[in-house]
Amino acid sequence: MPGLPELNLILLGPPGSGKGTQGERLQEDFRLPYYATGDILRAAVKEGTEIGKQAKEYMDRGDLAPDEVIIGVIAERLQQEEAADGFILDGFPRTVPQAEALEAKMGELHREMTAALLIEVPEEEIVRRLGGRRTCEENPSHIYHVDFDPPKKEGVCDIDGGRLIVREDDKPEVIKNRLAQYREKTEPLVDYYEDRGILNRVDGGKPPDEVEERIHAIIATLRREEEEGM
Ligand SMILES: [Zn+2]
Repeated sequence: MPGLPELNLILLGPPGSGKGTQGERLQEDFRLPYYATGDILRAAVKEGTEIGKQAKEYMDRGDLAPDEVIIGVIAERLQQEEAADGFILDGFPRTVPQAEALEAKMGELHREMTAALLIEVPEEEIVRRLGGRRTCEENPSHIYHVDFDPPKKEGVCDIDGGRLIVREDDKPEVIKNRLAQYREKTEPLVDYYEDRGILNRVDGGKPPDEVEERIHAIIATLRREEEEGM
């Protein structure tokens, strides 16, 4: 088979780990499609595929789509030409049963996951990152950070003078609750992928460029091992 082996990646990490940023960079650096679960569900609904119609029924009722529907939507994507050399999954799987369903589906497609990249960040750092966010009351796309990106005048938007507030999601007790949910549901996945020998830990406490470099190094190693194994 010509070319490089497939690069089928799962990104794991708590909210505030910088996972989305790294996903976007991976997508650019390796020219792989990036599937954030929420986005691909919405896309399937919009395209009106058979499985998209099923997903729409749940979403219209305000319910979460069940695992088999989400797996169906993802499987549709994985079989498209764009994902022939690999893909990046973000936001799925979130639980061990979802990971098992994904593994079964990949098996049907005669493929397997290359790596699960876990971006680890200490909890107090996540609280600092998310808790320091300030959002403009006039325009919620104007976002600041008290440490990393402060406004010129404290509490006031540089662009339109709007008052800067802490969004509900960014309040410390809400952040702690989101992290607790992550730990309960998603951390068992870490063991799951560790058991399969494809877990790779990345220190997400470092600046984004360094995190990106580390991920590149991991991928280079994986590819070398793959080629030597052939
Ligand atoms: Zn503003």
